[in-house]
Amino acid sequence: MIVPRLVDDRLLADIEDARRDPDGLHLWWLGQSGFLVHWRDRRLLIDPYLSDSLTEKYAATDKPHERMSQLVVDPARLDAIDLVTSSHNHTDHLDGPTLTAVMRANPEVEVLVPAANRQFAAERLAVSSDRLVEIDAGETLTTAAITVHAVPAAHEAVERDAEGRCRFLGYVFEVGPWSVFHSGDTVRYPGMAEQLKRWRIDVAILPINGRAAERRVAGNLWGDEAARLAHEIRAGVVIPCHYDMFRFNTATPDLFARTAREAGQTFRVLELGERFTLSPAKLRSSD
Ligand SMILES: [Zn+2]
Repeated sequence: MIVPRLVDDRLLADIEDARRDPDGLHLWWLGQSGFLVHWRDRRLLIDPYLSDSLTEKYAATDKPHERMSQLVVDPARLDAIDLVTSSHNHTDHLDGPTLTAVMRANPEVEVLVPAANRQFAAERLAVSSDRLVEIDAGETLTTAAITVHAVPAAHEAVERDAEGRCRFLGYVFEVGPWSVFHSGDTVRYPGMAEQLKRWRIDVAILPINGRAAERRVAGNLWGDEAARLAHEIRAGVVIPCHYDMFRFNTATPDLFARTAREAGQTFRVLELGERFTLSPAKLRSSD
């Protein structure tokens, strides 16, 4: 079992400690594609999966979801969350127990989901769909003082519902002066890099677990593809995710790191529960 850098009380203390550096952008990897982002008094939670619901769901099947890493924190203990987002409907990105706990601990939290999934998400979370904020690819909205731009994600294709709305999304978050791109689950699709070049992306968060037919799950970027995509969209730094959660669906970050190094792409491989800080000196002027 992988032991995170920080868990429970120590992780929560580190999150609080970030308030002493209000101008920096702080983020923590919470497992799978889940990240907590903190800037000034803003807190954004992206795709949190902080339960064992998939392990329980598949326990008696031929597709066991055996956890490889210890849970970093009980989601009921995450407070002062302004915005929580889901990139798509799969449980590791839209987890009922996690989101329900976050909403209970943060009654005012804005919950952002793809418009195509709003009804499904409302049912999973047992709330009225009015409780959820929706967005579709190509749209921009500002909620909880965070501006969100939605782009399509291809898991493994760009799928749309009957009304043409994307079922899988990536988000560019503008948090104060910083922009963070979280791709959701995706492979690379035509035009992806071109549209992302519209933003000056300080941090790109990309999956690296790749795709293989025998896994019977929709696939993602491989590590080398993630590193190259980050370089092409001129990301300030790229952080890999979507590994070290389930034994049947993981990867090491070695290929990612090697490719990023070869491409001259700045990257950071985080441990679970580890903080990453960008200080204002790292803010780049637009080019
Ligand atoms: Zn996933």
